[in-house]
Amino acid sequence: MRYTGAMVRFVCVLSICVVAGAQPAPKRLEVRGAYSHPGAFWKTGARLDEYGINAVFVHGGSINAELARRVRGEGARLFAEFATLNGKGYVESHPEARPVNERGEKAPAATWFLGACPTEPGFRAWRLKQLEELLDQHAVDGVWMDYLHWHAQFEDPQPVLPETCFSPTCLREFSRASGIRLPGGSVAEQARWILARHDREWREWRCGVILDWIRAVRAVMERKRPGILLGSYQCPWDDRDFGGARQRILGLDLKRMAPLVDVMSPMVYHARMGRPGEWVGEAVEWLGRTVAGPRAPRIWPIVQAHGDPREISRQEFARVLELGRSGPATGVMMFTIGSVAQDRGKMAALKELYGAWARE
Ligand SMILES: [Zn+2]
Repeated sequence: MRYTGAMVRFVCVLSICVVAGAQPAPKRLEVRGAYSHPGAFWKTGARLDEYGINAVFVHGGSINAELARRVRGEGARLFAEFATLNGKGYVESHPEARPVNERGEKAPAATWFLGACPTEPGFRAWRLKQLEELLDQHAVDGVWMDYLHWHAQFEDPQPVLPETCFSPTCLREFSRASGIRLPGGSVAEQARWILARHDREWREWRCGVILDWIRAVRAVMERKRPGILLGSYQCPWDDRDFGGARQRILGLDLKRMAPLVDVMSPMVYHARMGRPGEWVGEAVEWLGRTVAGPRAPRIWPIVQAHGDPREISRQEFARVLELGRSGPATGVMMFTIGSVAQDRGKMAALKELYGAWARE
């Protein structure tokens, strides 16, 4: 084919477009976050604003007036992590709230995590009262639900994925909500019957229970501090990982959750989960595609800085931080700011990246 003048001009214009497309304008990040209490970070003599940190995510129980004053004084927003369905500290003295497995037994802890039965009314009332008290005491900028899933362990290299919960309240609620009448027999027999005959309804109902918790948390927030942000720390697995366990076992239907939260923070702990660093970017892209729509939440991933089960180098930390803010993400944070504070290299990487992003 011979090139005419017009074709050459067309190809030139096209090339400019392609080059321009390859270098999009820098994206302004809404949140350059730090997760966990910044005490160790401050001990190094550093200030949040000096490092470009503009948001701190701290366990609700660790927030006090002094912390809030200092975080704000250094130009950052303060968000409360809220341990939603973590049973520890409650189920030991309230065995009725302990999850029940398919054998009809109290479920053992899933390595270091012990969940709670999400339909047990005493636990629910206790947990939501904690949130009310937190919001009464502190003018936080938002609440991040943590442990928002049915009893299981997804943060360890070897996940623990039990079938729960077949407690009296769960069986009753499932039957009521689905209209399915359960047969008589032992709990183990009822569980077997449900899983054999009504697996789909069971798992949909379980996802619905999680949505109901999100609505309950939102209702408390709207009453106490209307307008603050609701976020979710969540399992980063896609629909194929571990046989669909994110939805099947943890009860997280991301499409149904998306319109109910303002922000999703996938816990892309690549080393904990035995994945290469590049997976962080893929997981963020995947989540963006999955929750896309008119009411899509913002995406602020939390990446791994913590050296467990292996050391994370300065370069590796910088890379996952970059990938965490890539694609559809408009914020990023790390697990944890304490781990960064222990390592001069990671501190330098953080200052360099967040500082540059703050100037974008
Ligand atoms: Zn239950």
